[in-house]
Formats: sequence, structure tokens, C-alpha cells
Amino acid sequence: MLTEVYFQLMNPLVFGLFAVGFLCIYQMRPTTSSLVISLSYVFGALSFIADLIFQNSTLLITRVPIAGLYAITIALLVGGLSLHYRGRAPWKLLGGVIVLHLVVYAYLMVIEAHWIRSFSANFGCGILAAIGLVAFRRKLDRTLDRVLLAVYAVSCLQCFLRPIAIALFAAGPLTAANHNETTFIFTMHFVVGACAVTMGMTLLVVFSQAIFNDLRDSSVTDVLTGINNRRGFDDAGTVLLQNNSMEPVSLILADLDHFKSVNDNHGHAFGDRVIASFGALIGDYAKFGRVAGRQGGEEFALLLPGVSLAMAAELAESIRRRFASTSIQDGETRIGITASFGVAEQRSGESLSRLMSRADQALYVSKDAGRNRVTCDLEIDPAARSAGRKKSAPDTAAARSPAAKYG
Ligand code: GH3
Ligand code: MG
Ligand code: MG
Repeated sequence: MLTEVYFQLMNPLVFGLFAVGFLCIYQMRPTTSSLVISLSYVFGALSFIADLIFQNSTLLITRVPIAGLYAITIALLVGGLSLHYRGRAPWKLLGGVIVLHLVVYAYLMVIEAHWIRSFSANFGCGILAAIGLVAFRRKLDRTLDRVLLAVYAVSCLQCFLRPIAIALFAAGPLTAANHNETTFIFTMHFVVGACAVTMGMTLLVVFSQAIFNDLRDSSVTDVLTGINNRRGFDDAGTVLLQNNSMEPVSLILADLDHFKSVNDNHGHAFGDRVIASFGALIGDYAKFGRVAGRQGGEEFALLLPGVSLAMAAELAESIRRRFASTSIQDGETRIGITASFGVAEQRSGESLSRLMSRADQALYVSKDAGRNRVTCDLEIDPAARSAGRKKSAPDTAAARSPAAKYG
């Protein structure tokens, strides 16, 4: 008997530990889903403790609340999973199923249909758990999510298969008196415990990975603009150049003009708004596999697979125009700010840093020539090099069009 009690104490202990585990996850990444799952394990632990304390009770007043605790445990797990994967939980549906489940359970107790009651208790929990399968309806792109789905599906299925298997192999009819001595109750404790541990471990890994992904994203994302920071740009850019099948690849570097005086005259907070606005503009162009990044300060980069030097220069020109024509509000006045650009096309086998340095040289030609303009990498065109700086004039659209020069 003592061994059985020790055995039955394992589940509340394990559930309690998982409750603490998910609370720790919540502290690191405060999401409602991790809090709800932690609460689910708290209710799980309470269910097993109540079951242990009142295991010899056949009273409606004890059995129905215990069945309710188990049902709430499952409903909270379903809710937590749904919040994690879909951002919302079917609380009303879960509540309705719990009420229906308890009414049927109480009725079967009253009419003393114990076998059917045990079936209905397990089937009710199974139906509740099956609602959670909806949470996985979105596209599961990670192996870990598919593993969790498999573990979850097995946990749901055991609610239906276990009572049937026991009914087939158990000796003698189940009564209220012998309920706790049958293999029924011990198999229930063992299988539910095993499922809960497997589910809990898999869920902990899923939630830990979400924390890891957040950390990874924040380490490569610029806080002010939301686009890649220098590290993120270097990582994504290097991968792009290594695996790229869309040649040629071009690079645009941009630097805001006279930004120090923008800060001096309008304040650092205004400067931040300008940087954020230019970051949003560059971010608009980061589609079709392109990589945008803030290189630091007021410098930005845009790597363009499948884009020639001439096309990249046209793109830079359109960004330049858009930015130059946008003024930013500072109190009563609107301030117009410009940016200078340097453009280069990757040479065969050229590294990202070498490509960046050629685009940087072109950018500095733009700065030297008066700013607010686009300059293509001079080395690409020997004629342009011998002619000196090839740049776009600031005020004549035809002369400014790099496509006209390089196209
Ligand atoms: P140029 O036209 O030659 O590029 O001149 P500049 O004044 O823009 O160049 P400089 O490199 O001298 O100044 C860049 C300024 O950008 C200096 C620095 O205070 C400011 N800056 C760098 N990072 C930030 C930031 O995150 N927020 C704000 N508001 N300013 C920044
Ligand atoms: Mg600058
Ligand atoms: Mg600068």
C-alpha cells in the first residue's frame, strides 16, 4: 500500500516541477501561454493530490470536483498551446465541454454506472484534449513542433484507447468500491504521468527555443530601425553571397548628410527619428531576397541579388529622391534631410567586405562631390576612372540618372 502511495505521489511531484519550469520560462519570456501552461501543471498536481487524499471516497461531492480539476488541467494545457501557436484560445468551447463532461459524469455516478463513468471520465478528457489539436492547424515548419504534435496526439489517443484496453483485459466488473484497487487506476496514473512528462519535456524545449530565437533575433536586429544591425547584415549578406544563384549581385551603401549638425540643431531624439525614418525606407526595399542593414550610426546598406550595377544605381537614385523629398516634422517646422550613396557590383568570387569597401569608396566620392547624390563604383568603368569621379549632378535629372551612364 505504501509503495502505491509513493507511486501516486510521483505525478504531483513531476507536475509541480513542470509548473515551476514554465514559471521560469515566463520570467525569461513573459507570454500568457507559458503562464497558462504553468497553471495547467499546478492544476494537474492538485488533481493528483486530491485524488490521492480522497481515493477511497465514492461521494459525488468529492469525485465531481476531482474530475473537474483534471478537466481544468487539460483545458489550460489546450488554452496554453492555442495561445502559443494561434495567439488565441477557445475558452468558451473548453468551458462548455467541461460543464457537459461533469454533468454526464455526475449523472453516471448517481445511477451507479461505474464502468461507463470511468469511460466517460476518460473520453471527456480525451475530447477536451482533442480540441487542442486545432492549435496545430497552422503550418508547422519546425521539426520540434511536429514532434510536439505527435506527442500530443498520442496523449489524446490514450484517453480513448486506455479505458478500452483495460476493459478488455481487466478481470471482474468495476464497482465504486473496487475502483481504486483495479489496474484501471494504476494504469491511469502511469500512462497519464508518462504522457505528461513527455509532453512537459517537449513543451519546455519548444518554449526554450522561442527564448533562444528571441535572443538570436535581438542580437542581429537594430533596435531603432527594426532592420538588420551590422552583425545581422554581415551574417545574412555572407550567406547570400555564398548560396546565391541570382547573379549579378550589387550593393548600395548610404550615409545621411551632415547628420552631426542635424543632431546639434534639432537634438538627438530628432536625429533618432530621422534614422528610424531612413531605416523604414531602406527596409521597404528589402524584399525579393534582398538584405538591408544599418551599418552603425547613420550608415545603411542594401544587398541586391540578381541586380546589375546600372539597376542598383537606379534603385539608389529612387531611394535618394524619395528621402530628399520627405521632410520630417520638428515642432512647428519640417526639416528636409538628404543622403549620399555609393553603389558597386560584386566581382567574381569577391567577398562581402571587399564589395563593401568598393561601395564605400564610391560613397565617399558622393560626399566629396557635394552630397545628396549617387556614385557608382569607379573601378567597374575604366573610362569613368580616367575621367575622375563619375557622379550624378544634384540638380539635373538626366545627368543624375546612373542608368544613363552605366546602362
Ligand atoms: P557627412 O555628411 O560627411 O556624413 O557628415 P555627418 O555629420 O553625417 O558625419 P559624421 O560621421 O561626422 O557624423 C555622424 C553623426 O551621427 C555623429 C553621431 O553623433 C550621429 N549618430 C550616430 N549614431 C546615432 C544615433 O543612433 N542617433 C543619433 N541621433 N545620432 C547618431
Ligand atoms: Mg553622415
Ligand atoms: Mg557616417
